[in-house]
Amino acid sequence: MGILKTLSDALSGKATLTEKRSPKWDKVRTDFLKTHPYCSCCGGETKLEVHHIKPFNVHPELELDPKNLITLCEASSGGVTCHLFFGHLGDYKSWNEAVVKDATSWNKKLKNKPKKVVLA
Ligand SMILES: [Zn+2]
Ligand SMILES: [Zn+2]
Repeated sequence: MGILKTLSDALSGKATLTEKRSPKWDKVRTDFLKTHPYCSCCGGETKLEVHHIKPFNVHPELELDPKNLITLCEASSGGVTCHLFFGHLGDYKSWNEAVVKDATSWNKKLKNKPKKVVLA
């Protein structure tokens, strides 16, 4: 992870500079993305982030636990950034422990969204 990304994440409140990631995190993240290659909320496949359901600075023992992980995107489809909104309730300093339930229900909603019929 580059220093610029680290700094920009720190500025946005996504991570603090003092937060230490496990040296195993990169591998766990890559493996998780292989088995969960799309956003659990909108189904998108770009700008994916592996999100911690319970933040790893509050629950360090869950940092590498796949049961504590969910793939969410930052592609901002339809004006909503799944990671920021559903994972962090719109604030990277907060988190949403019901994210799995919410992502599942929004995934259903988004898949079946009604469309206006435009008559030519
Ligand atoms: Zn998404
Ligand atoms: Zn997150």
